[in-house]
Amino acid sequence: MDDEHTTQRALFDTRPAWREDEARRGTVATVVLPDGVDRPLDYLVPDALAEAVSPGRRVRVPLGKGDRQRLAYCVAVRTGDLPQRPLKPLSGVEDDAPLLSPRMIALTKWMADRWLSRWGEALEAVLPAGVRLTRRPRSTPLLTVAATAPARPPTAGQARALAAAVVPMTAADLARTAGVAPAVVARLVRGGLLVPAAQQPLMPGGDRPPVAHERPAALSAAQTAALEAIRAPLAAARHETIVLFGVTGSGKTEVYLRAVEETIAHGRQAIVLVPEISLTPQTCDRFRARFGRVAVLHSHLTPAERHAQWRLIAAGGANVVVGARSAVFAPAPRLGLIVIDEEHESSFKQSTAPRYHARDVAEWIAREAEVPLVLGSATPALETFARCRSGAWRMCRLPERVGAGRLPPVITVDLRTPENRRGGPVSPRLAAGIRWALDAGGQVMLLLNRRGFATHVQCRACGAAVRCPQCDLAVTLHQPGNRGICHGCGLVTRLPGDCPACRAPHLAQRGTGTQRLEEYCRTTFRGARVARMDTDTMRSRGSHERTLDAFRNREIDLLVGTQMIAKGLDFPAVMLVGVLAGDTALHIPDFRAAERCCQLVTQVAGRSGRGERGGRVVVQTSTPDHPAIVAAVRHDYEAFVNQELPARAALGYPPEGSLVRIVVRGLHEETVATWAGEVATRLRAAAADADAATGAIRVLGPAPAPIARLRDRHRWHLQVHGSDGAVLRGLVHRVATTLQTPTGVAWIVDVDPVEML
Ligand code: ADP
Ligand code: ZN
Repeated sequence: MDDEHTTQRALFDTRPAWREDEARRGTVATVVLPDGVDRPLDYLVPDALAEAVSPGRRVRVPLGKGDRQRLAYCVAVRTGDLPQRPLKPLSGVEDDAPLLSPRMIALTKWMADRWLSRWGEALEAVLPAGVRLTRRPRSTPLLTVAATAPARPPTAGQARALAAAVVPMTAADLARTAGVAPAVVARLVRGGLLVPAAQQPLMPGGDRPPVAHERPAALSAAQTAALEAIRAPLAAARHETIVLFGVTGSGKTEVYLRAVEETIAHGRQAIVLVPEISLTPQTCDRFRARFGRVAVLHSHLTPAERHAQWRLIAAGGANVVVGARSAVFAPAPRLGLIVIDEEHESSFKQSTAPRYHARDVAEWIAREAEVPLVLGSATPALETFARCRSGAWRMCRLPERVGAGRLPPVITVDLRTPENRRGGPVSPRLAAGIRWALDAGGQVMLLLNRRGFATHVQCRACGAAVRCPQCDLAVTLHQPGNRGICHGCGLVTRLPGDCPACRAPHLAQRGTGTQRLEEYCRTTFRGARVARMDTDTMRSRGSHERTLDAFRNREIDLLVGTQMIAKGLDFPAVMLVGVLAGDTALHIPDFRAAERCCQLVTQVAGRSGRGERGGRVVVQTSTPDHPAIVAAVRHDYEAFVNQELPARAALGYPPEGSLVRIVVRGLHEETVATWAGEVATRLRAAAADADAATGAIRVLGPAPAPIARLRDRHRWHLQVHGSDGAVLRGLVHRVATTLQTPTGVAWIVDVDPVEML
């Protein structure tokens, strides 16, 4: 504990950390190990290495008995009087340049405190694996055609090489493929007409041509006001968080594009975060069409590609970075703006340690860098609303669609009425709507947030559902092959012919999944070209883009999908959106269930009626009167917010205060339950001590988690609520560090969780 305090003071305090009465002088490096020892350690820097050691590089240090060599991150270096206790010297330096700036080092320390992770975990999280490779990725670059046009017409030989380089390949392969001398290729490289492939904008399906996207001549009044709100802090180089609360199609993306234009005009770089690259190809296309050189960080990059992008950004070679969650760590030296699109999406929270939220990380970086942060959504998170209402963030409203676009009328179909359930998963009214759209030459999107064929298989005799042998979950039927797939662990089993519980030969397929809906639509709407988009059909690289391109090109009339089809898509020919089971999301045991339901229905409804011919939305639901459904139907998300915020406050759920979830798991339920109980007892004792000074901290549980068994591990959880996040985290941290975890259990601490199962 003592060491830790010394180190932290040395890092974040300007006061001298060494006592005056010690005379020996030298250089000390403070290092953090990626795993193992949790606290920072001090090492002596030998004179020979003094030049090579600096914060942000990795060093090799001897550790423990036998001085095993470990790789560690150097987080601080100082020269001065040495402490009296002997220090081991570090043995080598791994990187020839820092991988992390001082700001990023400070960020990782903050992240570790904010989400109660180890500092080493935070350091590893901000550096992509490709950047951490000890051996640099092989440096034979793949060459491809540069974006710049040749100054004079290429010779015959050169034109062949340029044509061949449309597919990136090495210089040697290119010469061979094009049938030209290596010198021809070399000359094209020198002339800048062939460039390393990784320096090209790496888009999903990177070889597709940029989609022409017009730059509207004039902004709407609401867009102008929003841009003005961003422009002011941008010009003054000051931090401010601006939230664009704009209905689907209100022109938010156009505002981001303009703000990025201004950022570049100021000589700065912009980072744009999107929920998931493959699901938002249109957004990426628009950035690429407007800015050309866009660095795209997505999950399909190889480590070498990622490394190349990282270097390009760090060298200031990309003005715009577009990427998912972890792109927030892009090492932009001239950062001028951060944008988060669809900021309410839960994919911005990392599900492994450090369990950070990109929104909070972005705010920290934007504040330190003194740049604006722009958050945009048609359905901002309640946390975001609360920050705006407290005055901390500024909200700009874009309440109407741009141009002549109108939000589509939404009708609900009450599934409690028997007539509406007749005829399968599509009610007569929805079917009529689908026919209306198809007959008018329009397109249809149907949202069903359950994949598979039948959502469960149940015995008609005893009522038992077929369950996963290693999870506490009913299996989903997938076709072909009568496979039972567990959506918790992915285990595939052959469905039994008889009930595993009572042996009766009466298994019935219950509940419709996207697969069955697709089949239903093919047979019911004959002539319509039907496609499905869910994780089962979208496994291969580029499959999203192919399906969405086909939909855009009108090769598909009716698209069935899970929430995957709800995000950010702008297809003007969509005239009908149908929501098959509007309330599935409502019944999940999670305090955010209503919020998620309202967001999902609002978002998917927003895909309809973007073209001149308008559109409609049909929502089938068993709870048409639920505030989440009513608000989505009326396009009045804020009405839901107004109702939900006080309800959360009354129960002490975020955004009121802060929440820490602890999940304990292990093979033996008794051990798991006992340990969860022990953790709860210690937390309650600590909370009782703290109460008087710091306000209420409540411990709920322990109880079995909603998914009580996963991959053979029993799961128990508890929730700790506190009105003050910092106090709450401090308490949990104190308790966590004094507990000795018994063998056979593992537990995780999730600060401000978004996942409650
Ligand atoms: P959002 O991001 O809020 O869904 P977009 O920026 O995608 O909205 O705008 C919706 C559509 O309207 C896009 O096709 C976009 O090109 C177009 N658009 C945006 N702003 C304008 C404008 N000021 N004038 C005309 N069309 C616009
Ligand atoms: Zn399972």
